[in-house]
Amino acid sequence: MRIGHGFDVHRLKEGRALILGGEKIPFEKGLDGHSDADVLVHALIDSLLGAAALGDIGRLYPDSDERYRGIDSLLLLRDTAERLEKAGYRVVNTDMTILAQRPKLAPFLPAMRENIASVLKIPTEDINIKATTEEGLGFTGRGEGIAAHAVSLLEKA
Ligand code: MG
Repeated sequence: MRIGHGFDVHRLKEGRALILGGEKIPFEKGLDGHSDADVLVHALIDSLLGAAALGDIGRLYPDSDERYRGIDSLLLLRDTAERLEKAGYRVVNTDMTILAQRPKLAPFLPAMRENIASVLKIPTEDINIKATTEEGLGFTGRGEGIAAHAVSLLEKA
């Protein structure tokens, strides 16, 4: 068994779509970044790479690489899942937390879970996604950005 943690932050900006867990969420701002800036999937990828000691998202999918401009982060997650499989690992479960003051994310969590389950090819029961606020404190509280944490457990197949 191997455990890994991932953390990511992206800035909220007008004129961008808000994509979290592969879901497009109606909101007046979106996350800024080289890819689709899906902060939840980025934290998840880093937790998986961390558990397998395969490096990190910035090293494998650098934002200096034009191939990744505007890319759907679920495609990066698919690539990570293939790397894990090649290395002989299977995902046991993953638990994620999104830190956002707004918008309310609860209605979108089931769809995010389905998206991630289908890419990782594991049951939705092995995936948990939580959303919380930081009570108006800090950069998430001021609505300047969204952060996400992920903890994942892998098992040698
Ligand atoms: Mg990121």
